[in-house]
Amino acid sequence: MADTFSPDFMNKLVALCKRRGIIFQSSEMYGGINGFWDYGPNGAPLRRAIEKTWWKYMVEDRDNVEGLDSTIICHPKIWKASGHLDQFSDLMTDCNECKKRFRTDLMEDPHVCPNCGSKNLTEPREFNLMLKTYVGPVFDEEHTAYLRAETCQPIFVDFNTVRVATREKIPFGIAQTGKAFRNEINPRFFTFRSREFMQMEMEFFCHDEESMDWFEYWRKERWNYYTKILGIPEDKLRWKWHEKLAHYAKAAVDIEYLFPFGWGEIEGIHHRGTWDLSRHAEFSHQEQDCKVYDQEKKESFIPTVVETSCGLDRICLMALCNYYDEDTAETKKEGMNEDDRVVFRFPFNIAPLQIAVLPLSKKLNDDAHEVQKVLKKFFRTNYDVTGSIGKRYRRQDEIGTPYCVTVDFDTLEDHAVTGRNRDTMKQVRIPIAELNHHFLEKI
Ligand code: ATP
Repeated sequence: MADTFSPDFMNKLVALCKRRGIIFQSSEMYGGINGFWDYGPNGAPLRRAIEKTWWKYMVEDRDNVEGLDSTIICHPKIWKASGHLDQFSDLMTDCNECKKRFRTDLMEDPHVCPNCGSKNLTEPREFNLMLKTYVGPVFDEEHTAYLRAETCQPIFVDFNTVRVATREKIPFGIAQTGKAFRNEINPRFFTFRSREFMQMEMEFFCHDEESMDWFEYWRKERWNYYTKILGIPEDKLRWKWHEKLAHYAKAAVDIEYLFPFGWGEIEGIHHRGTWDLSRHAEFSHQEQDCKVYDQEKKESFIPTVVETSCGLDRICLMALCNYYDEDTAETKKEGMNEDDRVVFRFPFNIAPLQIAVLPLSKKLNDDAHEVQKVLKKFFRTNYDVTGSIGKRYRRQDEIGTPYCVTVDFDTLEDHAVTGRNRDTMKQVRIPIAELNHHFLEKI
């Protein structure tokens, strides 16, 4: 088993992610840009696959949650109403000695520099996290706009349009996934704290009297998502209740994962009261768009909101850390001399590539491509023809492909291929006609 808590684990993981085209620094040719990451050919499908499991679990499998895909740049007043322009800031302090900048709330001792130990620090100052841009040809205050700092605000603003279009009645939710941007003071821990990242959020609109029942309901559902859908062990997850609540909230809790660098938040489940809709009613003067009508009480009211909010990049990082493994004993079985086999033991549903097709000889390319075509109907596939078969298995292990299918000269006679299981390394002969059935049954 890999020791994911050894001090050099993160370095090992970052290097592997680059070497195998999973995740690497953005703009590397120009020296990189701090807090921005590119997902390569083996990382983009991982992120998409995880996003897909969330969308299915939160939207497609439910009748009471609707999907949305809003713009990244919205009317700047939205961020005034939400409080982001005035309050979305961190306290930061600069070290006068080493010139590094830190978030005061993340420092062990706010009087000592975590980098060089100096006590010569500036007074903490407010630092707004919104990223600014301009819309239109004139670059002035009036044309200033912001990249959204969270995906949920457009959900509130579109609440009425979605409700009317779908004829939903509360309780119901609206969900969306997409990019969010924060000018973080200290991007760190690989993708954990980035400046551009993806969020997956759901706002659930309900009656205030039922809101704590819904809070409990979503708390259980979200725990279930991590443990059952993504297969994360319960002992690597924990609840972290917020001690200080916003004045409008009845409860707030985070789900944390035990990363190699310590416990870190992956999701927040928040009771948001009527705060967001009330603010948008006030700032837009469109109160009717923020209310629903209660037939029994014969009155309109602003629904209460329970939110589930998680970061897709943090979930990817959790999957990479959780499913990374090294096994020493098994490796010689496949004729390899290396001591260690590095393998991501991703579950089938999130594996970036699910089945790799490996012809034993270039002469078998045509037949192997036919086999890949059959598998492509149902699975994310990969094709690799270079290097010894042992080396090719190792490459697939390092990107977490659960199955390999080898096409050999016998295939031409028996119309069958050899399937190899990533975890057990066991091999079985499978007729091509039964391939899809064989793998569909396994999942
Ligand atoms: P933190 O305290 O770590 O800064 P937060 O409490 O500000 O996070 P939220 O505003 O609740 O985070 O955002 C919801 C989710 O979005 C988080 O649980 C996290 O998974 C993700 N997230 C927030 N900031 C970042 C970031 N800078 N990089 C990557 N993911 C992030």
